[in-house]
Amino acid sequence: MPPVIYRALWVVPVTSPVIADGAVLVHDGRIQDIGPWQDIQSKYSDVLVREIVDVLMPGLVNAHMHLELSVFGVTEPEKKESTMCDWIRALLKKRMAAPYTDAEILAAAELAALDQYESGVVLLLDTGNSQLSDFSPSAKTPEIISLLEMLGPSKKAAQIAMKALNAMPTDCAVTGHAPYSTAPELLQYIKNDSRTKNTIFSLHVAENPDEALLLTHGKGCFVDFLKERDAFDGTFPITKSESVIEYLHDSNLLDANTICVHCVHVDTNEIDILAESGSHVCLCPQSNKFLNVGEAPLYKFLDYSILPCLGTDSITSNPVPDMWQEMALLSQRNHGVDAATILRMATLGGARAMQRESDYGSLENGRSANFLLIQDKNLNYVQSEQELLSALIHMGRPGSIERACE
Ligand SMILES: [Zn+2]
Repeated sequence: MPPVIYRALWVVPVTSPVIADGAVLVHDGRIQDIGPWQDIQSKYSDVLVREIVDVLMPGLVNAHMHLELSVFGVTEPEKKESTMCDWIRALLKKRMAAPYTDAEILAAAELAALDQYESGVVLLLDTGNSQLSDFSPSAKTPEIISLLEMLGPSKKAAQIAMKALNAMPTDCAVTGHAPYSTAPELLQYIKNDSRTKNTIFSLHVAENPDEALLLTHGKGCFVDFLKERDAFDGTFPITKSESVIEYLHDSNLLDANTICVHCVHVDTNEIDILAESGSHVCLCPQSNKFLNVGEAPLYKFLDYSILPCLGTDSITSNPVPDMWQEMALLSQRNHGVDAATILRMATLGGARAMQRESDYGSLENGRSANFLLIQDKNLNYVQSEQELLSALIHMGRPGSIERACE
């Protein structure tokens, strides 16, 4: 492919200031140069120039989703004001009823992946309890990193899961579900496997306050939930730990390849441990709102120099799994956090957490040409960098999103 120059009214590199009337030179699928249009034009006067668009920016990175759950649609707990355990019960009831064939589950997952692509997601971390082995991503699918999610809250269930893990092919990347659903020895076993394979270890963490209650005191809604499944066998509480994050730290589960998803109920001591460990944090504001579990302390993460990434979670707990909506809600709920930071979370934060910063997350020389060309009527009246960034995070999905690499 010959080199091409993409020109825009605004270029948003994310890791450096916005460039008004900027341009990006692409060759061989990579960004070769970036700068003001005048500079790029004079350096590469013989290179083809694409039509001018409103904005060039990195693709979005959705760091938490469950494609296999797409077929179930939005799942409400049976009664209002119910706990997160009631929502899990409602979801399990749907899954146990097994009203859908594998082909239907697959078709819904493929549609959800297409929707993510169309929204501008270039990289997606998907976790599922089964392997969608026939999943055949079309060209219009984000790059997907798939993790097989295992759980087993009792000693017996943990043994069964460990045996299953041993029988898996060596190229299967495995992760744990959550501290409340996965016994300590199983979490450590999975993390060791993940370390050997150098894969991402993504865990639901501190999504609701009952998780800490279970771990530290053997109380809260998860006790009944586990008892109903004959899985409350003395594994919990884990008496030597005083908080969820301390427990993960004491269990040697936190490092730069770990993504702690949700982190709604964590205090400053826990955030300090997370920051020290180099672990990543993924926030899912729309899912947290839907399940009414509270809001993650974004200001505190930023205070501790943690740049969280963003995830939509699945449609079962998020009626509109769309990263533009996640940014808008996060901004509404955290007025003091600037638009540039929220955009960094949705791009660079995810690329870092998934160890893919060399390809995605910013517009810089050497990065992938898989970045976004955006047009939207809401951008017509933008006059400054601040107005632009604010419009980008508040306007929802833009009217037109193309890819430079197409
Ligand atoms: Zn999830």
